[in-house]
Amino acid sequence: MTSTIDVDAAAKTFLKHTQEQLVSYLEACVHCGSCAEACHFYVASGDPKHTPAYKLFPIAKAYRHQKFPLSWLGLAPRLAESDLKLWEELLFDTCTMCGRCTTACPMGIDIASIVGGARQAFVAAGLGPSDLLAAADSSRDHGSPLGLTAQKLRERVEWLADEHDVPIALDKAKADVLLTVSSIETMKYPESVVAMAKMLNHAGVDWTLSSKGYEATNFGYLSGKADVAKLMVERIVAAAESVGAKTVVVPECGHAFGVLRWAGANMLGRPLPFSVVHISEYMAQLKRDGRLKLKPMAESVTYHDPCQISRRGGATQDARYLLEGFAQDFREMTPTGDANWCCGGGGGVQAIGRAADLRYKVFKIKMDQVERTGAKTMVSSCSNCRLTMDESKAHWKWEGGLASLVEIVADHLIEESKPAA
Ligand code: SF4
Ligand code: SF4
Repeated sequence: MTSTIDVDAAAKTFLKHTQEQLVSYLEACVHCGSCAEACHFYVASGDPKHTPAYKLFPIAKAYRHQKFPLSWLGLAPRLAESDLKLWEELLFDTCTMCGRCTTACPMGIDIASIVGGARQAFVAAGLGPSDLLAAADSSRDHGSPLGLTAQKLRERVEWLADEHDVPIALDKAKADVLLTVSSIETMKYPESVVAMAKMLNHAGVDWTLSSKGYEATNFGYLSGKADVAKLMVERIVAAAESVGAKTVVVPECGHAFGVLRWAGANMLGRPLPFSVVHISEYMAQLKRDGRLKLKPMAESVTYHDPCQISRRGGATQDARYLLEGFAQDFREMTPTGDANWCCGGGGGVQAIGRAADLRYKVFKIKMDQVERTGAKTMVSSCSNCRLTMDESKAHWKWEGGLASLVEIVADHLIEESKPAA
């Protein structure tokens, strides 16, 4: 039977991504193994194939075969279909692109970015996890991975505004700020959308959602479908340009922030016509400007750093600044900040059904971190982390509390009393 796996297309795509800095990364690995203990998948499974450096193997093989002058003697064998089948699981199910291994690597090798590029080779070969690819296709065809079409967005916004008695701006003609949403929160945690609206209204921000471009998550990037990745960026750019927004606020989703903030301009082929700000950064700025008035919260809380917002995003201190003063019993977990452990579901791993058992094992690292703080609730500012943790929590029947940063902020706003009519 003829195989449908296009190995040559995969090899060509790997090589396209082994230009410039990626070549130096491949050449730089000294095989020291220091990255192993930094990776939650290796720590959770103890399986040597989950070592970060091992995940580079098919890319390195394709590269060496092309570059090695005597490859025709068989000293640098060709990439094989069996390599692709084995590494598909390693590059999709066991890498959340969290960047923790890079911080342990003496050569500073950015494995997360290599994995992101390498996934495109699997798509070129006709491979990749079907559920992750379907999420990308749904984003292209319906506007979001979970089927949140523009019409459904309008219906949900109307329902949430009525139900919670909170004005939610949609399709204003002009606004300073374009707010985007993650379909995970819109469909599964709609209180987050209400909380963002409540907080922005409280601070007097001129903002709007837009049915032209609302989905912040980018499953095109996570699945390796570069055309879908670019399309998702273009939709947000079109929406921001149509309302004249100079700031795009990304909701509680780490990868949504990372892709738009750090890769959006390259995908678009020109500078983004706005600044990209994560909701935790935006709230911190509002607090600095004296526009968020918060009442104290007594409950003990700890903070889970979403990898793409803290370690890879640079907004590590914003959540802490926000919690400072109003979260009166705040307890840091260990390790924390840029060194914090991943939830296990980033990089699209949350959407891959067959990866569930490994995700659950990884979550035990987080449960242990939280339990050592003694805090009642773990707060995070990523709905993908929240969904991963909610599912893993149910699996282990763990009783620790979970909360969203924007929701606790919205719940503790001091609203000025309205003058009597
Ligand atoms: S980026 Fe994160 S998940 Fe991927 S190999 Fe490195 S430590 Fe592991
Ligand atoms: S820590 Fe860096 S140099 Fe060492 S094996 Fe891992 S990727 Fe290679």
